[in-house]
Amino acid sequence: MTTHRLLLLPGDGIGVETIAEVERVIAFFNEKAKGTAFDAESDLVGGAAIDKHGVPLTDDAMAKAAAADAVIFGAVGGPKWDGLPYEVRPEAGLLRLRKDLGLFANLRPAICYSALADASSLKRELVEGLDIMIVRELTGGVYFGEPKEIVTLENGKKRAVDTQVYTEEEIERIARVAFDLARQRGKKVHSAEKRNVMRTGVLWNEVVTATHKAYAPDITLEHILADNCAMQLVRNPKQFDVIVTDNLFGDILSDEAAMATGSLGILPSASLGAPDAKDGTRKALYEPVHGSAPDIAGKGLANPIATIASFGMALRYSFDMGRQADLLDKAISNTLAAELRTADIMQQGMRQVSTAAMGAAIVEELGKLGV
Ligand code: NAD
Repeated sequence: MTTHRLLLLPGDGIGVETIAEVERVIAFFNEKAKGTAFDAESDLVGGAAIDKHGVPLTDDAMAKAAAADAVIFGAVGGPKWDGLPYEVRPEAGLLRLRKDLGLFANLRPAICYSALADASSLKRELVEGLDIMIVRELTGGVYFGEPKEIVTLENGKKRAVDTQVYTEEEIERIARVAFDLARQRGKKVHSAEKRNVMRTGVLWNEVVTATHKAYAPDITLEHILADNCAMQLVRNPKQFDVIVTDNLFGDILSDEAAMATGSLGILPSASLGAPDAKDGTRKALYEPVHGSAPDIAGKGLANPIATIASFGMALRYSFDMGRQADLLDKAISNTLAAELRTADIMQQGMRQVSTAAMGAAIVEELGKLGV
C-alpha cells in the first residue's frame, strides 16, 4: 500500500467550498483505489489564518506543507482583509508557500471540454478537444530582477526600471520540465521568447536548444516569437502541445489560452519545484486559477471543477496515477455532457446545480467508470 500525504489549504471564500468537493473525491479514491491511500490533513491559510493566528500562514502550516507530498490549495483573500499591510495580507501566505517550497515551474493547462465549446469566445471547431499545457517560469525574470525602481531624474521627471534577468540554470531547469511533460503528452514543445529584441531571449533560445539536444532529442522542439505565439493561440490553438516561456510572457499567454476554454471556474494549475536529489520527487502545489470569489462565497454557487481538476493534476504529476487522472477528467467531461452546470457556466436548457451537487455528480460518474 502506498500512502500519499496531502496538505489541504482551503483558505477563504469559495476555496472552502471547492476543497470540500476535493475531499469527496479523495474519500472516493480512498475507498475504491486498490494499493493507494491518501492521508489528508488540513490547515489554515490567508484571511482564515490571519483571523486565528494573526499571520497568513503559520510556521507550523509551512512545515506541514514542506513535509507533504502535495499541497492542494483553495483560494485566499476577500474585502475583510483588503486594508492590511502588504506583508500580512492573505496573498502573502501563498507567496510564502511558493518561495519556501521553491516552486519555479507553473503549469497552466488549457483544456476545452466538448460540452462547453460553445461558451468559448473562439469558434467551436477551433477549441473543441483543445489540450495545451503552458509551462511558465515562475520565480525569475522581470518580476524579480534588480534594479526595480522608480527614480526622480535631475529634471524632476520620473524614470521607472524593471530588469529581466535569466541565468542558464533557470532556463535549463524549466526547459527540462517542459520536455518531461511533452514526453507524457503529444511530444512537441514550442519555446516562446523575443530573441529578436531581448538578450534574455537570445540566451533562452540557446539554452533551450542545447537542453533539447542533450536531454530530449525524442521531442519535437519549435521556437516561436512570443508575440507570434499570442496570435497563433487565437488563430489555431490546436497546433500547440506544450509551450514553455518566461515569467512575463507566461503570465499573459496562459491567461489568453485559458480564456479559449470558457470559465475561470474550470481552470486548474500546478506549481512544481526541483526534483529531490535522492528520489526525484518534486515539491508541488495544486490550485485553481480563480480567486476566493467573495461575491458568491457561501451560497453554493461556486464551480468546483477547477479545484477538482487541480487534484487531478496532483494524481498525474505527483503520484504517477495518470490512469486515475484520465478517469477523473473523463468523469468531469461526462458530468458536463449530462448537462449539469453550475451558475457560472449555465446555458439554456441545462440543469443548474450547486457546488456540492456538481462534486457529487462527478464522484458518481467516477464510480460508473470504475477506478
Ligand atoms: P475571482 O477569481 O475570485 O473572481 C472573479 C469572478 O469570477 C467573480 O465574479 C467570481 O464570482 C467568478 N468566479 C471565480 N471563480 C469561480 C468559480 N469557481 N465558480 C463560479 N464563479 C467563479 O477574482 P477577484 O474577484 O478578482 O478576486 C477576489 C479575491 O480573490 C481577492 O481578494 C483577490 O485578491 C483574491 N484572489 C486570490 C487568488 C488566489 O488565491 N490564488 C487568485 C486571484 C484572486
